[in-house]
Amino acid sequence: MTEERRDLVVAGSGVAGLSAAVYASRADLAPLVLEGDEPGGQLTLTTDVENYLGFPEGVGGMELIRRGREQAEQFGAEFRHGSIEAADLDGQPFELSLSTGETLRTRALVVATGASARWVGADGEDELMGYGLSTCATCDGAFHRGDDVLVVGGGDSAMEEALFLAKFADSVTVVHRREELRASEIMADRARDHGDVEFAWNTELEAIRGSQADGVTGATLVSHPDGYPGEKYEAGEDVAVEKVDVGGVFYAIGHEPNTDFLRETAVELDDDGYVRTADADGWATTATAVDGVFAAGDVMDRDYQQAVTAAGTGSMAALDAEAWLESTAATSGDTTRQISVEAGD
Ligand code: NAP
Repeated sequence: MTEERRDLVVAGSGVAGLSAAVYASRADLAPLVLEGDEPGGQLTLTTDVENYLGFPEGVGGMELIRRGREQAEQFGAEFRHGSIEAADLDGQPFELSLSTGETLRTRALVVATGASARWVGADGEDELMGYGLSTCATCDGAFHRGDDVLVVGGGDSAMEEALFLAKFADSVTVVHRREELRASEIMADRARDHGDVEFAWNTELEAIRGSQADGVTGATLVSHPDGYPGEKYEAGEDVAVEKVDVGGVFYAIGHEPNTDFLRETAVELDDDGYVRTADADGWATTATAVDGVFAAGDVMDRDYQQAVTAAGTGSMAALDAEAWLESTAATSGDTTRQISVEAGD
């Protein structure tokens, strides 16, 4: 059995991971990119990207990712199936245990594992996720031709999902827990102005009805004139309860960073699990609390979460990793590049 050693592993193949891979491969670091649980990341779940610099006519999310991967491969990045399940970052080289059962050793690591869709916590969601309940309208919208559907959330994702679903569904109702949208003006206006998108304000989803055989058949909504009905109910106030017949429910309430594998390491996470990055003087870099571990994209960015910012921090992480590898090679005399050694060596 061989044990594989690398100079640089990039965990994640969304736009941040791909950007890191392009920069690192052009710097001759031959990065190994772990595709992760959602190869291509969140852009593969989106329709047209209209705000990525250089595409005035917009570009499909899938297309942008396909081209980014091609670009990285062309300079020598290698892609591999799997994600990191556990990481030993206490000493050099780092040891990564993968979901495929493999173990990898690497001197530097770029964490670009992104974020995954949040669930509401409504009754019935565990059983019905994938059976009429979805976190991805672009993936599952076409199954809902002629249905009445709900979209839960009030941000850009919810507006985007609602607008996309309006192409197929008979009616789309955005269920939002307060009266004001979080979405950008342009997205909010598009949804508000669309004749087939309605809004259930100050409303939350309490339960989803249906079965795996029949799919989603209905939902229970609760509302309160001052918003956040769940909290109001907990505080003993009355809420209105309404049962609706719907054929689909879509969650668009934000994302959680994919950092479980870092919880037992010295990489610092904030209260919501995002990776903390900064240099000793507090200036923004992609360096984490562990020397040789860098972070890029949504996993370290709780504020912007844009494709273009993920690409930007991806390139920064690769440049930071390159500089770190050079400085540690200079001090340790280690110039190892991507070698395989027998286990126990
Ligand atoms: P977001 O901006 O964080 O919005 C999440 C929405 O879900 C908020 O309206 C929030 O309500 C609601 N919510 C959160 N937890 C909830 C719960 N437990 N129950 C009910 N509602 C809940 O997330 P996002 O829409 O996924 O967007 C994330 C980032 O990606 C943003 O920066 C966004 O601009 C960007 N994005 C951009 C585009 C685009 O430009 N085309 C498309 C998609 C996403 P409150 O408002 O009350 O907190």
